[in-house]
Amino acid sequence: MLKKLLLIALFPIAAHAQDYKKIHQKAIFVDSHNDILTACIEKNVRMDDNLKGKTQSDLGRFKEAGVDVQIFSVWCDGDMKNPYQFANREMDTLDAVISRNPDKIALTRNSAELKKALKQHKLAAMFGVEGGHMIESDLTKLDNIYKRGARYMTLTWNNSNPWATSAMDETLKKDSLSKAHKGLTDFGKQVIKRMNELGMMVDLSHVGEQTFWDAINTTTKPVMVSHSNAYTLCPAFRNLKDDQIKAVAKNGGVIDLNFYSGFIDSTFKKKEADFMLHHSKELADLIKGGTVKEYALSVLTLKYADEVQASRPPLAALLAHLDYIVQLAGVDHVGIGSDFDGITSSPRELDDVTNYELITKALLEKGYSKKDINKILGGNVLRVLKANEN
Ligand SMILES: [Zn+2]
Repeated sequence: MLKKLLLIALFPIAAHAQDYKKIHQKAIFVDSHNDILTACIEKNVRMDDNLKGKTQSDLGRFKEAGVDVQIFSVWCDGDMKNPYQFANREMDTLDAVISRNPDKIALTRNSAELKKALKQHKLAAMFGVEGGHMIESDLTKLDNIYKRGARYMTLTWNNSNPWATSAMDETLKKDSLSKAHKGLTDFGKQVIKRMNELGMMVDLSHVGEQTFWDAINTTTKPVMVSHSNAYTLCPAFRNLKDDQIKAVAKNGGVIDLNFYSGFIDSTFKKKEADFMLHHSKELADLIKGGTVKEYALSVLTLKYADEVQASRPPLAALLAHLDYIVQLAGVDHVGIGSDFDGITSSPRELDDVTNYELITKALLEKGYSKKDINKILGGNVLRVLKANEN
């Protein structure tokens, strides 16, 4: 009897394990935000080398993970003197990876090229420019990054620019930001108009609430929120409030889940602050040595992995954001925007890109249908991408 019970108990699990791996491999998996290009520059390594232990992704691991489409973030902070030049330098690094590995990865500029790359079992790569400051208030530069393969641009990063205010500034500098300077300027609206004409997705991650509403009322195409979560579950400064989530659904856009522990779990911020305080001298030395703060912290979290383990939320906490957005907006408006290689802490089960299949497993266990899983893993982002094309 016991044996029979055991068999009954084990069989569905085994069948299930097969199912999720198959569903994951078959799905077109799209991640809309990964910072490996910046990480490679910061850490002086190459994406086509095996970077296990150094980064959360590399070309080999994207393949192993079943990633089909990767939008690579092009990023520099607001203090950079020549941000447009730096953006081009970052794009050069991906172009170099592609020219060294033409059988593994291809730059794809539209749905047709994307389809072709997938047919050839290559990773379809696109750029996503993270921060409107990189076009230096010049529409010609916007056209140029589009020509190079940028298919979204976040209107701001944490820094505001002359034509759009960021979530960080709108929340932290609440009092010093005058009403006149909040949101999008007329030029900001021209930027959106041009992005709509070109077929570049307007990305509303990182933007302030005023900029969000100005942008969503200006754009004529569905927007992308490439790496953000739900404010109600974790009130981080740049997560989306309920009315924003509903507005993205109404617009036909997509919100892609960010894996950063601090945007998933509201108790994480204090734990991270304690960690930084504990290692403040080492952190200061790294920054003094020229490492950008975000990457200095990632060096320390890798070095003291055991110490940070306990502060990581479970995968279930990330999926709670997914369920919440689905409940508010519907299953057509959510996707994955991991932020891997731009984050210092992620859910316990998600160490690097090779763990993506555990999301598929969890979605199946939660009772999502295969059709809905395919939408979440990539279908929704591809729909928005197509809707933006001319
Ligand atoms: Zn970001």
